[in-house]
Amino acid sequence: MLRITDIKLPLDHTETALTRAIVNKLGIEEAQLRSTTVFKRGYDARNNNDIQLIYTLDVDVDNETELLARFAKDPQVRITPDMTYKFVAQAPAHLNQRPVVVGLGPCGLFAALILAQMGFKPIVLERGKAVRERTKDTFGFWRKQPLNPESNVQFGEGGAGTFSDGKLYSQVKDRKHYGRKVLHEFVAAGAPEEILYVSKPHIGTFKLVSMVEKMRQQIIDLGGEIRFSTRVEKLDLDGTDGQFSVKGLHLSGGDYLACKQVILALGHSARDTFYNLYEQGVYIEAKPFSIGFRIEHEQSMIDRCRFGDNAGHPILGAADYKLVHHCKNGRTVYSFCMCPGGTVVAAASEPGRLVTNGMSQYSRRERNANSAIVVGITPEQDYPGHPLAGIELQRRLEELAFKVGGENYHAPGQLIGDFLAGKPSSALGEVTPSYTPGVTLTDLSKVVPDFVTQAIREAIPAFDRQIKGFAKAEGMLTGVETRTSSPVCIKRGKDYQSVNVQGLYPAGEGAGYAGGIWSAGIDGIRVAEALAEAFDNQP
Ligand code: FAD
Repeated sequence: MLRITDIKLPLDHTETALTRAIVNKLGIEEAQLRSTTVFKRGYDARNNNDIQLIYTLDVDVDNETELLARFAKDPQVRITPDMTYKFVAQAPAHLNQRPVVVGLGPCGLFAALILAQMGFKPIVLERGKAVRERTKDTFGFWRKQPLNPESNVQFGEGGAGTFSDGKLYSQVKDRKHYGRKVLHEFVAAGAPEEILYVSKPHIGTFKLVSMVEKMRQQIIDLGGEIRFSTRVEKLDLDGTDGQFSVKGLHLSGGDYLACKQVILALGHSARDTFYNLYEQGVYIEAKPFSIGFRIEHEQSMIDRCRFGDNAGHPILGAADYKLVHHCKNGRTVYSFCMCPGGTVVAAASEPGRLVTNGMSQYSRRERNANSAIVVGITPEQDYPGHPLAGIELQRRLEELAFKVGGENYHAPGQLIGDFLAGKPSSALGEVTPSYTPGVTLTDLSKVVPDFVTQAIREAIPAFDRQIKGFAKAEGMLTGVETRTSSPVCIKRGKDYQSVNVQGLYPAGEGAGYAGGIWSAGIDGIRVAEALAEAFDNQP
């Protein structure tokens, strides 16, 4: 099989045009082309009057060896790499030990799945509920029911990404093609097949719910065990002088689980657990993250700006954007977690603290586009002194947002025009905010540090030069965004174990090793493999 990259064709090209492009590129007769598979399809919309589709294609041809020699110097024609997933280990026939996975977000889900597929029969501990029950609690909270601190947008089966846009791309290096394994498992669990080949795949929230259930069932069918509403409180450790090994886990409800190998896939919101781990001496460092607001515009405006007359084309779908601005005050403002045709969601997990995020359905047909507009912050500059100081900063900002919003989980909000002019908003404009349970109009500079206000005030007009209408007065801002990534890193070594706790495998977003669903899944596979290869089966 040959892989041909960078084949460009107009948006509305015919099937024959694709075949013709391959035949022309390779200089072969059509009869020599046995089959074609689209490996990737992206688009170039820089000129929205002439949007080009860009293909990477796998082709089966009669004269492969001869073609490879002929195109030896052409980087666009290569042998198709073998991307099939290969297990690195197989569990012993008799298991004296069972690995434990803490957290059933994408990282824990893939770690547990891979371990189960290798025969290790993992035990999974998840503080939240199974995904259907969790959905009721989360949607209930959005409809003014009380917040359940153990069952919400952050906690429960499926993890933080369950109620999301389900975007499945990131910048991570993936030399071993683990990302393909993630996509194939998602498709086997019911994700649309197109996620295998579109350049920016997404799943949407409702599909994710049933996929997570199917993957859970596979883990159970392979001998794994899932315990919901089971929170890990503390580790039981052996050792002295700052060097430990895992003996077991203390669980909520006073239970104890003896174990020697634990994957810790906690997500970025397990603040109580981070504190417990820190107090026990697990090595943790503060790490950078970002803070700011959610911004909402009409999706039709973004579509028009990005795709011109091609807006609404079924191949293109709802348009997204990615924006960055380097400010005079030295800060960088960027768009993050853009959700085309989606809604802003209440993403709190602690009572009395408010935080926003975004999600979409697969169809991305809601009226508004939303994204986080955030400013990068660092421990050195913004929360020095203590490894967990970033958590305290997040808490302070979320408490402020809760208070300014009216102490009922209504998000503080402001029209873009008012925010830029520095005056509180008093009436909504033409962009109706999608956040529920509600929005309290105010002055958003009250809920973030001054440098954040300054930086975002400078960035929005700059973004307007790239997306006409981005700074439109009637657009909407809500806040506060604080959980863009983990404020801590649970440092691990080359063997993927904690630098000072043997048998502990910190993983995924909470430990600082992933950012997003796809990369968390990839990290789960990586860590499961490391554990399997070093597996200690001694009783
Ligand atoms: P999590 O998904 O956070 O999972 C951690 C799990 O551990 C949770 O289920 C939690 O309940 C459990 N847990 C925590 N502490 C304990 C404990 N002590 N004991 C037992 N269990 C515990 N990313 C994308 O790539 N695309 C998107 O479109 C996208 N949209 C998002 C929308 C929203 C609303 C949110 C909140 C996030 C979104 N993200 C998105 C980010 C993405 O969800 C995360 O990057 C990803 O879920 C991280 O995976 P994880 O497994 O490392 O952690």
